[in-house]
Amino acid sequence: MKTRRTLPADSAPQSLCFVKEVKNRCRICYTCVRECPAKAIRISKSQAIVVPERCIGCGNCISVCSQQAKEMVSSVEEVEALLKSGAPVAACIAPSFSVEFQAEFDFRVMVGMTRALGFELVTEVAFGADLVADRYRETLILNKGRHYIATACPAVVGFVERYHPDLVPFLSPIVSPMVAMTRVLRSLHGPDLKTVFIGPCVAKKAEAVDSDVAGGPDAVLTFPELRELFKRAGITSASAEPSDFDPPRPWLGSLFPISSGLLQAAGIKEDLLTNDVVATDGHHNFMNALDEFAEGGMEANLVELLSCKGCISGPGLSSKESLYQRRSRVSHYTRYRELTHNQEAWQKSIDHFANLDLTRSYRSLDQRITDIDEVQIIETMQRMGKQSEEDELNCGACGYSSCREHAIAIEKGLAESEMCLPYVISYHLKTILELSNLNDRLATTQETLMHSERLASMGQLAAGVAHEINNPLGVVIMYTNLLLEECSKDMEFRGDLQMIAEQANRCKRIVAGLLDFARQNKVAHQPVDIRELVAATLSSFQRPEHVELDIVHEESDPIADIDRDQLIQVLLNLVVNACDAMPLGGKLSLRTKGDETTVIFEVEDTGTGISKENLKKLFEPFFTTKAMGKGTGLGLPVVYGIVKLHRGDITVESNADSTLGPTGSTFRVKLPRQAQAHAGKADA
Ligand code: ADP
Repeated sequence: MKTRRTLPADSAPQSLCFVKEVKNRCRICYTCVRECPAKAIRISKSQAIVVPERCIGCGNCISVCSQQAKEMVSSVEEVEALLKSGAPVAACIAPSFSVEFQAEFDFRVMVGMTRALGFELVTEVAFGADLVADRYRETLILNKGRHYIATACPAVVGFVERYHPDLVPFLSPIVSPMVAMTRVLRSLHGPDLKTVFIGPCVAKKAEAVDSDVAGGPDAVLTFPELRELFKRAGITSASAEPSDFDPPRPWLGSLFPISSGLLQAAGIKEDLLTNDVVATDGHHNFMNALDEFAEGGMEANLVELLSCKGCISGPGLSSKESLYQRRSRVSHYTRYRELTHNQEAWQKSIDHFANLDLTRSYRSLDQRITDIDEVQIIETMQRMGKQSEEDELNCGACGYSSCREHAIAIEKGLAESEMCLPYVISYHLKTILELSNLNDRLATTQETLMHSERLASMGQLAAGVAHEINNPLGVVIMYTNLLLEECSKDMEFRGDLQMIAEQANRCKRIVAGLLDFARQNKVAHQPVDIRELVAATLSSFQRPEHVELDIVHEESDPIADIDRDQLIQVLLNLVVNACDAMPLGGKLSLRTKGDETTVIFEVEDTGTGISKENLKKLFEPFFTTKAMGKGTGLGLPVVYGIVKLHRGDITVESNADSTLGPTGSTFRVKLPRQAQAHAGKADA
């Protein structure tokens, strides 16, 4: 009966998918994933892509996308070509036309405009609906006790074939009103008649090319596509000649687009008492009904299911009116037609087609996911931070009803972990925390680096100055001593010479300190017993009598790979400072500690302590609080330099406020036990 089957060029033959993506429009909000009843959308390269073989063509993704990232495959050019082909073409207009056009103009204007496009016949699909309703009534009477799923909605049929193939035998073997009407027209006007269905449905495009349905339309247009045809042909409501639809005339079939309209058209009541017939619409409802049907929990003989909230809310309508307003447009038109309804003539038409074949077949196109690898699923869930059942929030933000379903979809390449909102939030929080920690570390490193740079440049300067001063200073000291030797004790200027010698020697000490500070650029690593090192340090130093000494060795292995002379200098400087801080006496504690990788020296005193303000300046060259002639401010910079050359660390804890507790300071030097690869280069 059917003469031509065409598929859209960019659609796989077996998929019949008429929904396509608009490139780069998708903002991956997952709304389409969430709203797709077939879970036929996968996220790839930050775009939501329709998976053709899983798609049931309901067009919901087109309706719900705020970015217009999905659109249906247009049939406008195909229909234009058909109209220009010279063959007679009939338009079969779905009863929801009143929802699309009634607010703008009378239905007769729409019929006139459609004729002006070149359609030879303009008919109402509602008559096909009348016939189909009649067949349902007949089927139910003849097959009492059998259960059927009504099949006017191609999206529901597509869903059953793909996701409930076990229910395929329950699909009623009756064609949809669209196919019934095109078969009627061909039986009336001959097989050469071409037919175009015009309605609110995207899935009808797929039904028209479904090889299980013979005798369907040659092309399918949605109402916005019809508007486009008008526009391209320059046809307006003012220019068109109003006219009525061509026969055969329908009756209650006009109610078909409203949920349970089929039942009403067939005179079958949705009887709450006998529960023989159940009608429901919308994605969630129809899927729940099918689940229940499959589980055997539904006694109804006929289950009428619509994917949308009735065809009046199909994606192929441009109306922005509420569902209630849409319903009233359909019923208003039906009531208007009832005024001139001729029951006898209508019954005659119905009887005329009593023997018209309105059957069709179905097949299983199973797309259920069955080969689930439990181990993989658990691993995927764990990757998303779902370690236990409590972590499975099943919030649905990803578009899947549970975390497990989401994990399965990830495994099958349909989804991504990033679709899990709680996971993404915790991931970002973690990243922010890590970044902030890194930032802190960076700031500290930067500060250390600046400090090191300052020390390095001061060291260079100091070395230069010290070198230049050293020689003349030696001459001054030597000649002062010579003069002193030649000078008798009672000579007038002997005191002056002594003053020169004293101050010149002080300068010498400063210069020696400067040279020490500047020359720290090489470390001679050798195995050193740190206990012996402490003893050697103390032996080269005259401890003031009023300072008590306490030495504790806590490490088990005293050998460390360090520069012995440099470390003696470190300890000596720290010990001298500690004693200077206890002019009235106190306790000096020297502790050594260590583990496998590090050795620690602690020099603690019960002295004056160091104020917070001074703590910041401790390692700066020439910072001293000691009296003129006593301090050079080079001891700690030298210590710092040596410690850094050993790739170690020096920290200070101090309290200078007796109201907060005992005053005193602890200098802690931490060194790697083994010489490190880059240690020894001047970096301090
Ligand atoms: P100097 O000893 O010549 O002053 P340093 O660089 O060794 O130079 O010390 C700098 C300053 O740090 C000292 O003048 C002193 O103020 C402070 N300081 C160092 N060690 C201690 C300590 N154990 N207790 C109190 N202050 C200290």
